[in-house]
Amino acid sequence: MKRQIFTEDHEAFRQTVRTFLAKEVEPHYEQWEKDGIVSREAWLAAGRQGLLGLDVPEEYGGGGTADFRYAAVLAEEFSRAGVAGLALGLHNDIIGPYLTSLATDEQKRRWLPGFCSGEIVTAIAMTEPGAGSDLQGIRTTAEDKGDHWVLNGSKTFISNGILADLVIVVARTKPEGGAKGLSLLVVERDTPGFERGRNLDKIGQKSQDTAELFFNDVRVPKENLLGELHGAFLHLMTNLAQERLAIAVGAIAGAEEILEQTTRYVKEREAFGRPLARLQHVRFEIAELATECAVTRAFLDRCIEDHSAGQLDAAHASMAKWWATELQKRVTDRCLQLHGGYGYMNEFPVARAYTDGRIQTIYGGTTEIMKEIIGRSILD
Ligand SMILES: Cc1cc2nc3c(=O)[nH]c(=O)nc-3n(C[C@H](O)[C@H](O)[C@H](O)COP(=O)(O)OP(=O)(O)OC[C@H]3O[C@@H](n4cnc5c(N)ncnc54)[C@H](O)[C@@H]3O)c2cc1C
Repeated sequence: MKRQIFTEDHEAFRQTVRTFLAKEVEPHYEQWEKDGIVSREAWLAAGRQGLLGLDVPEEYGGGGTADFRYAAVLAEEFSRAGVAGLALGLHNDIIGPYLTSLATDEQKRRWLPGFCSGEIVTAIAMTEPGAGSDLQGIRTTAEDKGDHWVLNGSKTFISNGILADLVIVVARTKPEGGAKGLSLLVVERDTPGFERGRNLDKIGQKSQDTAELFFNDVRVPKENLLGELHGAFLHLMTNLAQERLAIAVGAIAGAEEILEQTTRYVKEREAFGRPLARLQHVRFEIAELATECAVTRAFLDRCIEDHSAGQLDAAHASMAKWWATELQKRVTDRCLQLHGGYGYMNEFPVARAYTDGRIQTIYGGTTEIMKEIIGRSILD
């Protein structure tokens, strides 16, 4: 089915992203995978190409468009290229909205130009060793000391954790407040007491620096409070819908790409004197996966349109996230099987897609939490 949500401008932007991937990412990707981290030069190159801060106002160096379809194009192309390490989507779609919607004018002037040029790489630190799905369990504390906060605690699994120059930290500012006692504090690189732990050893996404962060008596100026005091939970709930949609957009594009590659593979690979594609089981596998992808694609494109018009609610973003990521997991697993032993070899994209993609049903809210949100919206 021909997709109908993009204009010529979006397709021109797609070409820009493809050129960027071919020139600035693909030649370096193997090295980044070995290093466990991407180069800062790649972030600066992304900034020069206008791929950072798509929705940031032009006066700060951004793209100045609220049209989420550009972000969707970026997510699709990165996913199709199998690029998991250079987390432009996290920076643009997940962290960007906190800065554009919550920062004061003074904070915007301080942070947004570097955000758009690639000089300021960002991260968001919610998860702690004892609190992931249940953010009410957050134990990192920020004590009010008049003109500053004193931050103590630790975070884990933080994407861009090693590279980040600016980290939005979710901290408890009211000991007894439950979900209503959390605030967002911005911690900048080289602030005394802010230390990085290990770059964590993961089964996939090897070039993504996912790290532990430690805060020991970190003095955070009052000017670095982002949004409302004790208002973090509401800010998180507001922004998580876009995060979930962005992950879903990458998931369906990744599934489609692996399915296309597998379709080519089964047409070429022979067994018992004929191509695999002549076997009925293989034909049914491809037919089923193609159907599931097409149905999911229709729903996702509708979600992208709704979100661009400011109309996507949390429940539908959660539906998109769990459905598309679980589909990606199924498609990748079955496509790997269709590759036989070659599917287990890292030189085949399906192998890397299998390990890189496995996290998709976990971060950004697990499949089970997505179902909780949807259930609540229907039943409560
Ligand atoms: C590679 C990677 C990158 C990440 N990046 C970031 C980041 O940049 N910033 C950040 O803050 N975090 C990040 N995370 C953390 C991620 O968001 C959490 O791992 C995720 O939310 C799950 O939390 P948890 O690991 O504590 O699992 P838990 O919350 O302990 O969940 C364990 C299991 O219990 C299930 N479960 C929990 N509660 C319920 C419930 N109410 N009903 C049914 N089932 C339930 C879960 O679905 C899951 O299957 C990242 C994680 C990874 C692995």
